[in-house]
Amino acid sequence: VRVFIVHAHHEPRSFNSSLTREGSAALKAAGHEVVVSDLYAMNFNPVSDRRNFVTTRDPDYFRQQTEEIYAAEHSGFASDIQAEMDKLFWCETLILQFPLWWFGLPAILKGWVDRVFAMRRTYGGGKYFDRGPLAGRSAMCSLTTGSMAPVYSDNGINGDLSMLLFPIHHGILYFTGFRVIEPFVVHAPARLSEEERARQLAGYRERLLSLSSAPIIQYPKLEDYDENWVLKEKQVGRSTTA
Ligand SMILES: Cc1cc2nc3c(=O)[nH]c(=O)nc-3n(C[C@H](O)[C@H](O)[C@H](O)COP(=O)(O)OP(=O)(O)OC[C@H]3O[C@@H](n4cnc5c(N)ncnc54)[C@H](O)[C@@H]3O)c2cc1C
Repeated sequence: VRVFIVHAHHEPRSFNSSLTREGSAALKAAGHEVVVSDLYAMNFNPVSDRRNFVTTRDPDYFRQQTEEIYAAEHSGFASDIQAEMDKLFWCETLILQFPLWWFGLPAILKGWVDRVFAMRRTYGGGKYFDRGPLAGRSAMCSLTTGSMAPVYSDNGINGDLSMLLFPIHHGILYFTGFRVIEPFVVHAPARLSEEERARQLAGYRERLLSLSSAPIIQYPKLEDYDENWVLKEKQVGRSTTA
């Protein structure tokens, strides 16, 4: 399997970095191909602006999606974006590795999405969700939190983690066509014992080596919605596990 890991942590000795390092070593040892984009090490620019493009559709008024459509038709993406797009379309499985920051993606990773997930390349022109350009691939978030698991339970003070991840799972990954694998979460690695951290790393290696049978989050298909993008038939939740 071709695996693309997008890694967003600034400290090479962090637990996130250990997850990426040990995970990719385990995948390679099992014969898989792995490419890692270590965003901080690459000094990836997360700011989305005209530097996304080498072409210009409208020099007077910058509309990112208009420029994206034009760039898609004229090989007009800047080389740093094009390189990431190539990895995205090369992979069969995408992994986003990050610490939860303010209930979401760290800015460098959000900026990677803002710039790389361009209209007409990863979505648009009628291609969304199960019909998205990245359909046939799977994606998984591997993340750490600062708080322990109960804090992210249904009645916990931060609410259910799956609710916080819905914008990433449904709004980014499924929107562009990925099958979304249930996330791998290590809660509060800083508060765990060495042994428990080692157990978590072993669990991650195990998860990566059995991705083909990992649980998928089931979302409706486009055909399940009416002309107003409302479900034709009420479904029980939108993030139930298969
Ligand atoms: C801007 C910001 C916003 C945040 N927002 C949130 C939020 O909204 N919600 C929330 O819950 N938290 C939040 N946090 C906390 C953050 O999510 C956690 O600090 C982070 O997830 C912990 O992961 P880490 O990789 O940085 O851990 P680290 O602190 O790097 O690692 C934990 C421990 O693991 C050890 N370790 C590393 N590698 C190994 C190894 N191979 N074997 C054994 N031990 C190892 C390290 O030495 C360290 O002692 C936020 C933090 C910041 C900075």
